Amino acid sequence: MTDNKERLLRRAIELAAEARAGGNPPFGSLLADAEGRVLAEERNTTLTDADISAHPELKLARWAARELDPATAAATTMYTSCQPCPMCAGAIQRSGLGRVVFALSGEQLVALKPGGDFPDVPQEGPALYEEARVPVEGYY
Ligand SMILES: [Zn+2]
Repeated sequence: MTDNKERLLRRAIELAAEARAGGNPPFGSLLADAEGRVLAEERNTTLTDADISAHPELKLARWAARELDPATAAATTMYTSCQPCPMCAGAIQRSGLGRVVFALSGEQLVALKPGGDFPDVPQEGPALYEEARVPVEGYY
């Protein structure tokens, strides 16, 4: 890993410590352009905002989709203190960000958490295809 990557990743870890000091779960992320300039930073605020979706990666993905053109977004790298969860990974994909560099892996995080991982939600489907396809057909 290059010095600049390590510097940006260390900043993401600092943001995680700031999130914790502010009463939130310890996660932080930033978005950098191709030259390594920081475009935006975020901290987890799920507790202080009472918002389960207030992960820093999701906030940055939403910001990028709103504020950056697709080519600029694709040239960015997200540096994050922990590997993005499935919710954030989906948002990062939809926002068109170029790539992610993380410090802790999801597996390493689970090992640090008493009680471990979140259980999967039971899902049922597909169903009612003939009705459900009507509002979708012709949209794309
Ligand atoms: Zn997340």
